[in-house]
Amino acid sequence: RVRVSGLEKSFGDNKVLRGIDFEAREGTSTVLLGPSGSGKTTVLRSLNVLETPDRGVIGIDDVEVDFAALPPGKAGRRASGLLRAQSGMVFQAHNLFPHRTVLENVIEGPVVAQKRPREEAVADARTLLDQVRLGDRGDAYPFQLSGGQQQRVGIARALALKPRVVLFDEPTSALDPELVGEVLAVIKDLAADGWTTVIVTHEIRFAEQVADQVLFLDGGVIVEKGPSARVIGDPREERTRRFLKRVL
Ligand code: ATP
Repeated sequence: RVRVSGLEKSFGDNKVLRGIDFEAREGTSTVLLGPSGSGKTTVLRSLNVLETPDRGVIGIDDVEVDFAALPPGKAGRRASGLLRAQSGMVFQAHNLFPHRTVLENVIEGPVVAQKRPREEAVADARTLLDQVRLGDRGDAYPFQLSGGQQQRVGIARALALKPRVVLFDEPTSALDPELVGEVLAVIKDLAADGWTTVIVTHEIRFAEQVADQVLFLDGGVIVEKGPSARVIGDPREERTRRFLKRVL
């Protein structure tokens, strides 16, 4: 379960998040929609503490951080690190290790960062590669894969750390159009399998199909939130309507 309240973040004079509040239940998919610059990626990066919010509370399962009260120095870094470990981020484009096989790329995190036994990590990685529909490509090298396949390896790599929540930052925006569908299909499978996901995407039709909850952001606030069919199919707010009209 994800709990966010009163999240604020500025970059210099630019107040990017002006008090963000939402919750996401376990096993659900939350999609963040909104115009460019509305703050979607900053919300996502805050969940993974790639950005440190100025104020606000983020809780993921039993780890909670109040950023206004974050202690300085080591204690603060420790608290941030515990929260970060609760989520796994899938970026727009994945920097896979070019001289390692797909399987080795996936087990890197569990073996090196989490010190898990290699055999166990390999067994898990094989299951994950099946899940992202790359069960037969474990021995391939990244350069032998399409962009969509590489992105699916990136997804398996994020899942290998067994995060409580998987965060997707515009996971298809760096892909050629014909490769978008296969990546979205895999994300849809994960959501159906019960992973808790938070997704920033411009793919409205995908959002409609996969999201349990849609948050529509504009100017650093959540203008509208609710079930996807309601927010996308029957938006209440003028700003949401205008945005959807433009992108659909
Ligand atoms: P897009 O759909 O274009 O990715 P977004 O809704 O994800 O947009 P953000 O990436 O969260 O928006 O950015 C919100 C604002 O914060 C933008 O004005 C952006 O320029 C600014 N911003 C984001 N990251 C930084 C940073 N590290 N330093 C300075 N400004 C930043």
